[in-house]
Amino acid sequence: MRSEPPSGGIELPGGGSPLAGAAEPADATDPALGTVRPGQPTPGAARRVGPGADEGFAAWTGTGRQQRHELWMRRAVEVAVTGPEPPAEPGGAADDVPVGAVVYAPDGTELAIGRNERELTGDPTAHAEVLALRRAAERLGRWRLDDCTLVVTLEPCTMCAGALVLARIGTVVFGAWEPKTGAAGSLWDVLRDRRLNHRPEVYGGVLEVENAAILRAFFR
Ligand code: ZN
Repeated sequence: MRSEPPSGGIELPGGGSPLAGAAEPADATDPALGTVRPGQPTPGAARRVGPGADEGFAAWTGTGRQQRHELWMRRAVEVAVTGPEPPAEPGGAADDVPVGAVVYAPDGTELAIGRNERELTGDPTAHAEVLALRRAAERLGRWRLDDCTLVVTLEPCTMCAGALVLARIGTVVFGAWEPKTGAAGSLWDVLRDRRLNHRPEVYGGVLEVENAAILRAFFR
């Protein structure tokens, strides 16, 4: 897991080049991490930003990348708060937990967006990530999204993490950690499970404070 520091974070020395040995992110199935559990610090790791964040901690090494991720995350927040469409009926989308997702092409083009619509549509699978993946695949005319990045405001659940693996998504960027259901390092780590045939790059805790505040406000 590569975690990005909050805005204004300290830049690590040697910026721009990956740290030696950081090429292969460790994952939850790594025997070396057998004693590390989500919510507990990894020995020797620094600057945790969330449960499991420091497993396979690799230095964040690019200002450009962090800025891009934060910019994209702000768009996902906008989707979470406003939704792709105005609610069909008053209060429609307002009943749904505000989670937003955006899929970006390699050149940064916005391909598709999705907002959690479970209540709006009565569909248990209508999570933001699944909707965004479907729309991006439809737009590209292919199911394989290995050159794309999905940005989502909340750590993906098991279903969405599974869908992201099936889509062969290249990169996943998520906002708030979800200790109760998260499958990207909190409760499970489906995205980096070496038993699966695809493992995207994962960046967690992007604009975490803002994203967590939106969810807290909803559940208040
Ligand atoms: Zn989900």
